[in-house]
Amino acid sequence: MKQLNIKEISSISDKTILYGAGMIGRLSLEFLKRNNINVNYFCDSDERLTGNIIDGLKVISKEELKKLDKKINVFISNKYLNTVGKYLKDNKFENVYDCSLLLENFDLEDFYKKKRNIFQLQGSEGDFPILKLQRELDFYLEMCKKENYVSSKKLHLKTIDVQITERCSAKCLNCSNLMQYYEKPINSDSDQLFSSIDTFMNAIDKLDEFRVIGGDAFMHKELHKIINFLKKFDTKIIVYTNAKIVPKNQALECLKHPKVIVDITNYGNEASLKHDEVVALFRNEGVAFSTTRTTKWQDCGRILPFIERKEDELKDLFHNCCNSDLISLLHGRLYRCPYSANATNLKAVPEEKSDYVDLLDKDKSLSEIRESIFNLCYQKDYLAACSYCNGRDYSTKWIPAAEQTKKRPLVYKKIK
Ligand code: SF4
Ligand code: SF4
Repeated sequence: MKQLNIKEISSISDKTILYGAGMIGRLSLEFLKRNNINVNYFCDSDERLTGNIIDGLKVISKEELKKLDKKINVFISNKYLNTVGKYLKDNKFENVYDCSLLLENFDLEDFYKKKRNIFQLQGSEGDFPILKLQRELDFYLEMCKKENYVSSKKLHLKTIDVQITERCSAKCLNCSNLMQYYEKPINSDSDQLFSSIDTFMNAIDKLDEFRVIGGDAFMHKELHKIINFLKKFDTKIIVYTNAKIVPKNQALECLKHPKVIVDITNYGNEASLKHDEVVALFRNEGVAFSTTRTTKWQDCGRILPFIERKEDELKDLFHNCCNSDLISLLHGRLYRCPYSANATNLKAVPEEKSDYVDLLDKDKSLSEIRESIFNLCYQKDYLAACSYCNGRDYSTKWIPAAEQTKKRPLVYKKIK
């Protein structure tokens, strides 16, 4: 993907479009406005946004975009750089860029103070925490570098979901990590976990974030041991919780380390029963955290019966899926997304060997493991699990978040 800096924009074309009306699009718009660059439209693949006015700018559909002059500047301001880039190339747009040169030295704090009202995600309410916003921006900037990483064979990964337990304090009917299907959920074995993380970290070049998840990470009695182990790496540690459990003693102490940020999802119901108590505790104890009030989810937390999809459909589903780059570690295996990890673990989908890397495989050398991680992270076009999954893109239906059920575990058909 090409880059264009602020000085060159007007010399290429007097028309500029931002493709992506989400958070990165809005940040880019603010930046361009501040630099007196006129932006003509947002464009967004989500047709539900067509015709809306966002931050004073009209959103057009990709069909409307197609009719515009092919020489206009189009900045891709969402993380689907490959998919959108291909669409623009197929439709002969000549001047297509990512927003990395606009956003890499962005003074986020200053913008946040003045324009915090624009930082809203679909499905959330209230302020969008700056810690989270910074992480979204970092994620986007890393995605912009992905092509370079692939061509130079560099394994610089943004995040890995370290799933430390199958257990959760909540009982969500539509958990996208599939916790509702576990009959006898277990914690990860700490020794196995440490060994697989050591192998992973030795095999790759760089990792920016460990995302410690469950279920609910606070369900694991050895959370402090895991956090203390992860601290030895030069990598941020984000611990996810729904705030139903108030951490105490060692579990609380380990969260105070400067590398650790707790990411709270507040569902406003019994799934986040202790939210206010947890927030007050973290404020008093100096734990870095962000909390997001979440009201809606996308409908992707179900194991579906096998869906016959053509290869092109599977590729589209995968490349448009916002979870397809969430590299996930579960019981010593590395997967491409949390759905694939848990559906394979539950034996709800066929086990496709190229869809995971066994980090505990003692017969493989480190360079072989590195090659397998490279292929998993950069070379996949779809997964076996995609044929059993609703996908998660801009068109996926919204449902109420964290609806609780007493009927767990849910029944599903195991692959024989
Ligand atoms: S809180 Fe709900 S969505 Fe989150 S891991 Fe637990 S069951 Fe899943
Ligand atoms: S569509 Fe594929 S990549 Fe996306 S969540 Fe489902 S299994 Fe994972």
